[in-house]
Amino acid sequence: NVKEKGKNTFQIYTSLMCNTSLERFNLESDIRRAIENEEFVLYYQPQINTDTREIVGVEALIRWNDPIKGLTPPNHFIPIAEESGMIIDIENWVIRKACEQNKVWQNAGLPKIPISVNLSTRHFLQPDIVEMVAQVLKEVDLEPKYLDIEITESMTIDIDRAIITLQKLKELGVQISIDDFGTGYSSLNYLKSFPIHKLKIDRTFVRDIIKKDSNDAAIVSTIISMAHHLNLQVIAEGVESAEQLSYLNNKHCKVVQGFFFSPPVTAQQLHEKLLKNNFG
Ligand code: C2E
Ligand code: MG
Ligand code: MG
Ligand code: MG
Repeated sequence: NVKEKGKNTFQIYTSLMCNTSLERFNLESDIRRAIENEEFVLYYQPQINTDTREIVGVEALIRWNDPIKGLTPPNHFIPIAEESGMIIDIENWVIRKACEQNKVWQNAGLPKIPISVNLSTRHFLQPDIVEMVAQVLKEVDLEPKYLDIEITESMTIDIDRAIITLQKLKELGVQISIDDFGTGYSSLNYLKSFPIHKLKIDRTFVRDIIKKDSNDAAIVSTIISMAHHLNLQVIAEGVESAEQLSYLNNKHCKVVQGFFFSPPVTAQQLHEKLLKNNFG
């Protein structure tokens, strides 16, 4: 009886495994095809200075324009791409494309702003990452200060390499932001010695700041004042309402990104926003 039950359990287990690994296999080969066929597109979300109401930066966010599934958000394929290592090819494309697009806006005479790209920890920890970034900037002829690299706290899994890479990127002249700040293993100790420029407060904290008795309000205002004391810029992500905006303003967080001002939009739409450049 026990033996039989064990056997059935085993069968269920293997068939589930097969399903998942088959789906996974399909997704992996679809991603590989997407890289070859250049099925990825970038959307661009503006970052707004709430005093001047001007665009002070833009984040490039990848989507997969799958011929069958349509426009697919990053959460559906970035994790698999990270695990399989394909993320490196994908992000090399993202970095080049983002720099090229920024150069196109600059050449059109639009206000010069840095463009942010998301770099996975796996990619960030590659030995040749700095050379790769330098090469792209050179080929695209974009000044390094107009590229902003977003990494997450998980880069601290290899602290020695992280510090070396951060220092080299700083010497290169690109900007560095810590994305989703507060959701990872926050190493407040390292923060003071890291050569970084910005903290991006994760939107899960911003979501509930105006709720009564919200711990998130305390967390957000603490992150803001800590950033100021450490001489770091601070950006609030996921700002959706005027109430959230005024809370953040009262705490002297001057740069925000979120649906309240704009969702991620196409390159052409961002061109128009830069032309007008006033969210007042
Ligand atoms: P992220 O870097 O934290 O980007 C912000 C995400 O929040 C974007 O989702 C954006 O559309 C969304 N967002 C912005 N404002 C609001 C708001 O007001 N409300 C809400 N609910 N959401 C808002 P998206 O584009 O789906 O990207 C999700 C994540 O995928 C990104 O989070 C980033 O971690 C990852 N990702 C995107 N592109 C890349 C890439 O090239 N490489 C890597 N490794 N990850 C990427
Ligand atoms: Mg980001
Ligand atoms: Mg992120
Ligand atoms: Mg984020």
